[in-house]
Amino acid sequence: MHVEVDEPKCVSAGLCVMSAPDVFDQRDDDGVVILLDSDPDTALDEEVREAAGLCPAAAIRLVEK
Ligand code: SF4
Repeated sequence: MHVEVDEPKCVSAGLCVMSAPDVFDQRDDDGVVILLDSDPDTALDEEVREAAGLCPAAAIRLVEK
């Protein structure tokens, strides 16, 4: 699936990084999300869905292919 993040919405909670560390990281200075992989392997679909579901800011958008 395709992943998009809305950086202005991100509140730096870091839950996405804990759920899917191969797909999300956080900036060192302010904790805002960094999208490492916008088209992750399908093996990571479950992690990515969990991350999107946990994000308190609804800043992660998933586009099913
Ligand atoms: S879980 Fe959401 S609010 Fe938290 S760092 Fe990730 S994108 Fe930002």
